[in-house]
Amino acid sequence: MELEPGIHSLTTGQLPTRQLPIGREPFQGFPPPNSFLVFGTDASVLIDAGWDDAADHEARTAYLRDVGPPPLAAIIITHRHPDHGGGALALHRSTGAPLASHALEREAIERDLFGGEGRITRELRDGEELDLGGLTLEVVHTPGHTPGCIALFARERGALFTTDTVMGVSTTLIRPGEGSMADYGRTLERLRSLRAATMYTGHGGPITDPESRLQALIGHRQRRETELLDALAGGPRTVQALREAIYTGLPAARERLADQQVVSGLHKLRDDGRVRDDGERWART
Ligand SMILES: [Zn+2]
Ligand SMILES: [Zn+2]
Repeated sequence: MELEPGIHSLTTGQLPTRQLPIGREPFQGFPPPNSFLVFGTDASVLIDAGWDDAADHEARTAYLRDVGPPPLAAIIITHRHPDHGGGALALHRSTGAPLASHALEREAIERDLFGGEGRITRELRDGEELDLGGLTLEVVHTPGHTPGCIALFARERGALFTTDTVMGVSTTLIRPGEGSMADYGRTLERLRSLRAATMYTGHGGPITDPESRLQALIGHRQRRETELLDALAGGPRTVQALREAIYTGLPAARERLADQQVVSGLHKLRDDGRVRDDGERWART
């Protein structure tokens, strides 16, 4: 589907009749991962390749045949998660286009997504520009969701491809040990400074008011931080007790994800010197 000239959505799994496989998405009804084809007059790139799924692969290659874009210069994997890079190796094999990611994602992608059977042959750096002919894509390193997560910015269009750093639905999961809440906060400010007109996100539809969405996400993070500190005012608490205090009315299926958010928030506050833990309970310093 053409979103604007030279920017197409290759997202599959949007048909209402298609059942989202249980366990693959964080919760039932979560929108499928987005995949974009971007091209100028000379070259094209794919931004993310969805799950490793034969039907999805078939749909994407058929779409590429139909559109007939200029030569595919790269299949860009924005980060290490299987919903974004899982389908990349099959596309590489059928198109011959090189696989590209940030250096900090390379090892995890080659090991976890390719099972050692494929290589990232192009490492993308912050500030690097991909000239597609009349359309330039700038690489923006956006750590937070994962260490080497990247966004792509078509400055001439004001089009920013945010992947999971900003989603069309819900807030972004920051997994402890993998992501960093402190980095994520800085990344949101950086994206704000780009003054994009449209954000094409990792899941869900485009966002046409990036400034207010980014402000809302930044405000949300700050509120959660205040809530954590407030919940610790009465003395030390466990992660579970903190989650119950902050995330009220949460369905049981999402408790584990909420716990991860709480821990990531606590790690940031610990790095800021504002909380400490004894291995089980957390307290204000
Ligand atoms: Zn992700
Ligand atoms: Zn995702």
